[in-house]
Amino acid sequence: MAVLSSAKRVLLPWASNGHALATVSGGLRVALGTDGGGGGGGCSLLQSRWRSSLPQLDPVDRSDDDNSGGGDMDWDNLGFGLTPTDYMYVMRCSKGEGGFSRGELSRYGNIELSPSSGILNYGQGLFEGLKAYARADRAGYMLFRPEENARRMQTGAERMCMPAPSVEQFVHAVKQTVLANRRWVPPQGKGALYIRPLLIGSGAILGLAPAPEYTFMIYASPVGTYFKEGMAAINLLVEEEFHRAMPGGTGGVKTIANYAPVLKAQMDAKSRGFADVLYLDSVHKRYVEEASSCNLFVLKGGTVATPATAGTILPGITRRSIIELARDRGYQVEERLVSIDDLVSADEVFCTGTAVGVTPVSTVTYQGTRYEFRTGEDTLSRKLYNTLTSIQMGVAEDKKGWTVAVD
Ligand SMILES: *Cc1c(COP(=O)(O)O)cnc(C)c1O
Repeated sequence: MAVLSSAKRVLLPWASNGHALATVSGGLRVALGTDGGGGGGGCSLLQSRWRSSLPQLDPVDRSDDDNSGGGDMDWDNLGFGLTPTDYMYVMRCSKGEGGFSRGELSRYGNIELSPSSGILNYGQGLFEGLKAYARADRAGYMLFRPEENARRMQTGAERMCMPAPSVEQFVHAVKQTVLANRRWVPPQGKGALYIRPLLIGSGAILGLAPAPEYTFMIYASPVGTYFKEGMAAINLLVEEEFHRAMPGGTGGVKTIANYAPVLKAQMDAKSRGFADVLYLDSVHKRYVEEASSCNLFVLKGGTVATPATAGTILPGITRRSIIELARDRGYQVEERLVSIDDLVSADEVFCTGTAVGVTPVSTVTYQGTRYEFRTGEDTLSRKLYNTLTSIQMGVAEDKKGWTVAVD
């Protein structure tokens, strides 16, 4: 019990020195093997048959931490690759319990899963993605609408028969992850710390059913631009054979199960020199939906249109923010069906998402014809990009209450 009570001390804010953390995590390891929650509220008393599926965590050992700010990172050449960072956050919930118990930071590293875990066998899992920026106006970091990611995870969890962390738990966990990995946050203007929350069915199951235990975790990686084109405009290919989503499916939630099926289309397009594909609706094959990981906007005259989210399109937080920012600029914004004809006759086309930001589209190829759109300095997408990023980085005042400080 002495060890369990040390696990509870994880409540200490992230100001702890390395020694305190090592103690805390040592406690965590033991706590996991005993009652999993250390009395943190919610998930306690794991039954033995679930215990074997618990990921084993390495104790936190900061002795090899190098506090020199990302070690020998080349901040000027960040792409969207994985750079492992120091810590991850882990929180669990088992069957029959009200919700997630208190989670903890641990050293970033591999986790152990039962071969029969729900995630490995049936793809019961969700992910999220958000970014922390080094602030422009003072020390510290900023998150952009993290509660929206938390709520979207809850919506997805409902669809995938999983329990989800509360909004408070989610945001707290994100903040902890950022602070623990602060030396990996790129300097202002060089990129962001990409934060990847996961919610997975970690419990063992054989027959098709929801897993008996869930793990919520967060890891982080410094990133620069998503497309190899950087901030330059991209070329997209309209995909006519494969679909990303269907009515009644899971296209509207960020389940991991949505992504492997589109790799083929994406790889084929990349091999032909396109940055990504644009998916068509699976019923009429006439309406554009979105790209593999970002939403789509088209501008024609003073009207901006984006496909309405009715279950087959991922409701992007960037999308929603851009709708608001475009309206603020006096544009009429319509969420509706956007046909191929609307697309190819547009003045401007751009994609939005946490990873891609606001990326201009210079061409779209459909049935062998290449259509071109306006790009460059004097475009709406550039203006929206500038407004959005200056809010996200603390360059402009956040009048909308979108940002959350992490100090
Ligand atoms: C995550 C994602 C987006 C963008 O959502 P944001 O909240 O803006 O990051 C768009 N489309 C798909 C398919 C996605 O997975």
